[in-house]
Amino acid sequence: MGSPVLTFLGAAGCVTGSKFLVDADRSRVLVDAGLYQGLRELRRRNWEPFAIPPADLDAVLVTHAHLDHCGYLPRLVREGFSGPVYCTRESAELIEIVLRDSAHLQEEDARLANSGGWSKHRPALPLYDGADVEATLPLLCPVDFDRDVEVGPGLCASWRPAGHILGSATVLVETGERRTLFSGDLGRPGHPVLVDPVAPPSAHSVVVESTYGDRAHPVADPDALAGAIRRAAARGGSVLIPAFAVDRTELVLLALHRLVRDGRIPRLPVYLDSPMALAALGVYRRAISADSPQLRPGLEEVRAALDHLEVRGVAHAAESMRLNRPATPCIVVSASGMATGGRVVHHLAHQLPDPRNCVVLTGYQAVGTRGRQLVDGARQVKIHGRYVPVRAEIVDVPDFSVHADATELLAWLAAAPHPPEVVYVVHGEPASSAALAVRITEELGWCAVVPRAGERVRLD
Ligand code: ZN
Repeated sequence: MGSPVLTFLGAAGCVTGSKFLVDADRSRVLVDAGLYQGLRELRRRNWEPFAIPPADLDAVLVTHAHLDHCGYLPRLVREGFSGPVYCTRESAELIEIVLRDSAHLQEEDARLANSGGWSKHRPALPLYDGADVEATLPLLCPVDFDRDVEVGPGLCASWRPAGHILGSATVLVETGERRTLFSGDLGRPGHPVLVDPVAPPSAHSVVVESTYGDRAHPVADPDALAGAIRRAAARGGSVLIPAFAVDRTELVLLALHRLVRDGRIPRLPVYLDSPMALAALGVYRRAISADSPQLRPGLEEVRAALDHLEVRGVAHAAESMRLNRPATPCIVVSASGMATGGRVVHHLAHQLPDPRNCVVLTGYQAVGTRGRQLVDGARQVKIHGRYVPVRAEIVDVPDFSVHADATELLAWLAAAPHPPEVVYVVHGEPASSAALAVRITEELGWCAVVPRAGERVRLD
């Protein structure tokens, strides 16, 4: 019998591209199949051949519906994977929305690059297309939380709420007597909509994310968002809020609802300009109606926010373009959250040069993204092959983060019933991962390491 082996195929030394291969005696599964995003060097890795023939995988286990955890699935399928993709019910619903959008963006980028002629690749090709996504969706196998599922011969897995986005989970993989826990992305205690992350079950090895491994979330400035909106409105400008379509949109709309209700911002028209966000909002609405146990009790207010805030969904691209020159100031919430693609890019191109406008960034901005450049004070950003001056006010409102910070990550780990033998720190910029590993070692006294990309470790 060979030893079970874990290989860090992605999100090792960086935040995106989560992929962890578990090679057990009789089966092989991949935990998360995430896209690399951000820097060109990272994105190029999406094109590299997968470490093993994808057809050899028994299954893929997905923690949640963010692209950096599920966005590589259609590529795996294109390259020959045809096994089950296990994930929670809500993740399955959201993955469908997210992957269709991703294929659309890939195709659109390739088309724009070919017509604009600025791509280095001729012709520019999409990583996958809509047909690959449609071939992937039938493979999704929804699982219940807190149930053992046999995911391959001799291999068992279970999902527990991670409080990060709807459907998000930690995944425990059991090979014989050995238990390995994958944190996926962990939410913050006190999320306005989701219940807190469930304490980790006992495991021999823990693979933990470290997006905010070297940071503490600042104490929320209760007036950051309201102040930005009031200032822009007073200047006669508009407010653009790039938001992750899945999760952040709901929180942003809830916050806007409360600010209007309390009279802290003028009642401006609010446009939700993202077909994906509108679809994801539907999944959240259904979960609220079904009293999902992942949601906090008493969400009447959220339902009210979703129903009563005058949010105009923008379903058509032509209407989206019209918003670029609104007659009166308005608030546009649009995806993607890091301004890497989607309709928000067109809005940025139009809104950034006008100093009356304001752009509010609402979450983690990975290195190499336009969102990060804006937070870092860029005076111009490149959009569709042209440089655009940044004269609009840029405001970073980190209160909307859906990731645990360093202390919250440590507290989650420390709640385990038994210390693990080793903690692998992944899914962070190198400094974040290193800082969290040091704190785990010093404050918990546990063995903690930051694995290299491609590193293999024994699980027995
Ligand atoms: Zn995530």
